Amino acid sequence: MSGSEELERYRRRLRARLAELRALVASNSDDLRPVELDPGRQGRLSRADALERQAIAREGEHRRQREIARIESALARMEEGEFGHCAVCGEAIASARLDLDPATPVCVGCAARQG
Ligand SMILES: [Zn+2]
Repeated sequence: MSGSEELERYRRRLRARLAELRALVASNSDDLRPVELDPGRQGRLSRADALERQAIAREGEHRRQREIARIESALARMEEGEFGHCAVCGEAIASARLDLDPATPVCVGCAARQG
């Protein structure tokens, strides 16, 4: 496989994941609204339960937003021809590592040093 075909494969994977994340973000927006209890509709669900559920939804939302930012920056590095090179030391990132996580910005050595 040539380098550009490989790059195209990572680009497709990143774009597919980005679309998936954006769809999840859109579908979860209901859970992120301020908690308003409607006793008729929510029955015995307590306010604490509703707040707990909202906290979980919000945490998931933060995680998705971080992943979206990470993927967008990987796609930007692709545009700049820097994709596949470590953002810290500039060495090539092993393709096994990119296969596992195409959005990773650093090589395995720098990732280990960062903790
Ligand atoms: Zn590195």
